[in-house]
Amino acid sequence: MKKIRIAIDGPAGAGKSSVSRLTAERLGYSYIDTGAIYRSLAFSMGGTDVENHSKIRELLKDFEVSFKIIEGVNHVFLNGNDVTSEIRTEAISMKASSVSAIPFVREALFNMQRKYAENGGVVMEGRDIGTVIMPDAELKIFLTASPEKRAKRRMLELEAKGQKVNFDELVREIRERDINDSTRAVSPLKQADDAVLLDNSGINLEQTVDIIVKYAKEREAE
Ligand code: C5P
Repeated sequence: MKKIRIAIDGPAGAGKSSVSRLTAERLGYSYIDTGAIYRSLAFSMGGTDVENHSKIRELLKDFEVSFKIIEGVNHVFLNGNDVTSEIRTEAISMKASSVSAIPFVREALFNMQRKYAENGGVVMEGRDIGTVIMPDAELKIFLTASPEKRAKRRMLELEAKGQKVNFDELVREIRERDINDSTRAVSPLKQADDAVLLDNSGINLEQTVDIIVKYAKEREAE
């Protein structure tokens, strides 16, 4: 049985993070949340404007993100500091989306992401994993759901953390991010030709994970 590489791409709020983490857990693989890398960069910028490219280049010189699952939660460390909850605000979501559209940013983070996949046995989640970062992944999933369903899930997630949110505002932000992510010039969000399209609007988390694990086991045995 070989250890494969699994790429899970899709729009914001499709459930990629939970699905990817649980899939990795079931298979005994490592889990890499590449959105957290862009979020960490956005966070490290503080008040810096996304137009301030020289400052962003400087930040990238000393930029390291690592992950560790602690009690079922994927903790994100930025240069050794735990930023897990700080990077999950809506302000950081929007800033991450803007900074990720800058070509030199994607270039700088390309090698970092390739390294995580070097040894196989990995579930990597993002927007361009199957198309750019691991075009040779043995299994590619394009995970999606309707904008309303995705906004509803995000709302429950944020409310569970005590953040007050407006549903219509969330739908609007999700649509805006979809447009940003799928129309940018470099690495737009796009389904890889050989990816399995999985719309989970009508099924739950467990059912989604079951489907992916089934595909993974088939590929492992090939
Ligand atoms: O997945 P998440 O919502 O945490 O990602 C935050 C932002 O980072 C996305 O809106 C997207 O713009 C960017 N991103 C990206 N490429 C990836 C992962 C995330 O451009 N592989």
